[in-house]
Amino acid sequence: MRLKNVPGCRERIAESEYVVPEEELKERAGSWKSSFAGPGELHIEIGMGKGRFIHEMALLHPDINYIGIEKYSAVLLRAVQKMEEEPKENLKFIRMDAEIIAEVFGPGEVDRIYLNFSDPWPKDRHAKRRLPSREFLARYDRILRADGRIEFKTDNRVLFDWAVEQLPGSGWKADLITYDLHADAELVKDNVMTEYEEKFSSMGNPICKYVISRE
Ligand code: SAM
Repeated sequence: MRLKNVPGCRERIAESEYVVPEEELKERAGSWKSSFAGPGELHIEIGMGKGRFIHEMALLHPDINYIGIEKYSAVLLRAVQKMEEEPKENLKFIRMDAEIIAEVFGPGEVDRIYLNFSDPWPKDRHAKRRLPSREFLARYDRILRADGRIEFKTDNRVLFDWAVEQLPGSGWKADLITYDLHADAELVKDNVMTEYEEKFSSMGNPICKYVISRE
């Protein structure tokens, strides 16, 4: 998701009490849980966009601490503005490219990772930038606790099939794969919709989801 540049958005992000300062990101590796008031698990969403999903998750699960990660300031600003209207003690934001995620979180300190409607990067030469790629799975392997899981949703069947093909030999196994999440009465009960999910499912696109963990 790219929004037009919003004048002053970088400065507003830098000043926001809800966004962790960029210069502190690597210093906090290994001690993120002490950044929150409560002692709960740490769940992160990578590529959160305007933050609809993570705001709702933080509201539904006050005992879990959440960090939303987004690359673009103009997009992140929307999540920050929502936080200003509805502050949540258990939610923080980071503006960064997730390529450096293994330097920002310590070994095993993240309890769950959400990837929602990740950018498809359709050109082969950009495959490493796809968030469910093997390159990213190796980064997640360093920061996710041993029995932690990754949940990935998308309506992009080509990206989803490719993501599933990444798994054999990667050290990860699928605990759940569905090609039509919204048609599954059990799964849909706890499903929190993202902005893109709302948009694309209302157009009739089936939503694919996997949950993976270590083999
Ligand atoms: N997760 C939201 C949803 O489902 O509505 C937004 C989906 S949008 C298609 C993907 C978002 O991921 C964009 O806002 C993009 O800037 C962000 N993103 C893509 N690659 C990223 C990266 N390497 N690090 C951080 N954010 C990234």
